[in-house]
Amino acid sequence: MTHTKTDVAIIGAGPVGLFAVFECGMLGLKSHVFDALEEIGGQCTALYPEKPIYDIPGLPEIAAGGLIENLEKQAAAFNPVYHLGSPVEGLQEKDGRFILKTARGNTVDAGAVIIAAGAGAFGPNRPPIENIKDFEGTSVFYACRNKSQFKDCDVAIAGGGDSALDWAIALQPIAKSITIIHRRDKFRGAPDSVSKLQDLREKGLVKIETPYQLKDIRGSEGRIDHIDLADMDGNQKQIKADALLCFFGLSTSLGAISHWELELSKKELAVNPETCQTNRDGVYAIGDVATYPKKLKLILTGFAEAAQAAHDIYHRLNPDTPLHFEYSTTKGVPGSPA
Ligand SMILES: Cc1cc2nc3c(=O)[nH]c(=O)nc-3n(C[C@H](O)[C@H](O)[C@H](O)COP(=O)(O)OP(=O)(O)OC[C@H]3O[C@@H](n4cnc5c(N)ncnc54)[C@H](O)[C@@H]3O)c2cc1C
Repeated sequence: MTHTKTDVAIIGAGPVGLFAVFECGMLGLKSHVFDALEEIGGQCTALYPEKPIYDIPGLPEIAAGGLIENLEKQAAAFNPVYHLGSPVEGLQEKDGRFILKTARGNTVDAGAVIIAAGAGAFGPNRPPIENIKDFEGTSVFYACRNKSQFKDCDVAIAGGGDSALDWAIALQPIAKSITIIHRRDKFRGAPDSVSKLQDLREKGLVKIETPYQLKDIRGSEGRIDHIDLADMDGNQKQIKADALLCFFGLSTSLGAISHWELELSKKELAVNPETCQTNRDGVYAIGDVATYPKKLKLILTGFAEAAQAAHDIYHRLNPDTPLHFEYSTTKGVPGSPA
């Protein structure tokens, strides 16, 4: 467990949280950034990394994943500390500062907090199987971080969308066997992936179990022995598996944030648009999670809010040092020739 001190704690490493690092950095403020996910990028990375975005000023077209790469690069000049896979669960106030506590038990002491939590922390949609948590992390997974961990395994993959199909195709050459389980006969993935899957099935390299759903996981000490499947008519069958990958999409939840005595308006945080401060002094909200009259939920709106919040935080943390407004062209960034 760690305990560190910083100027600003940013909750959410989506596009808006990442740009807040830059805006704070330009004013000499150091940031720690937290995200529940293991990767930065928020919705852009988790939901549509390859889709082109057309309304980022100055970039006529950029893939969502490319935008995140650029934002990470832009923020890197200010050496942010990232805490990934770390949902923030606790926020305590002490002597005008804030102590944030993550689900991993780490704490950060910050002079101000920026909540850039989007629609809330992302987490996997779990299938309704009572004992599933007993197997998570050892033989049940909701993402594939390292293909080699499935080498020579009997892998079951549940789901019918792009992730399920892509991972079935990617793991087929290294796994001992691949079985896809889907509740419908039709798959929702890209046509090219669906035809690749059918081809693998015809060659006997992938098994497809449809229309079946997961019913039970059998095994002990976190290790799966086999999985029970059932169809809508109650017909059941068992399949042998060492590992189960579930791809049922992501759910979002404001979670702990909704218990921090912040004014909520339809599950969003009400802020003063001039500063982006919430009803709590020192706690700011920007991006999709922040609301005020006529708010536009766009990335570019969130970027401007990051600048508003950063300037207000500067005054809060440096009450005796007036801020001389300067353009980036005048000031430069660390490492630039300006
Ligand atoms: C398919 C699609 C296409 C889109 N196209 C466009 C477009 O063309 N132009 C445009 O402007 N917008 C577009 N959007 C919307 C855009 O993606 C959002 O406005 C943007 O992602 C909001 O950024 P954010 O940083 O506020 O939040 P998010 O991107 O939602 O990131 C929030 C992050 O906070 C994390 N988080 C939340 N709570 C916690 C917690 N307690 N602890 C730790 N981490 C937490 C979440 O895990 C998440 O990673 C699109 C959205 C979708 C789904």
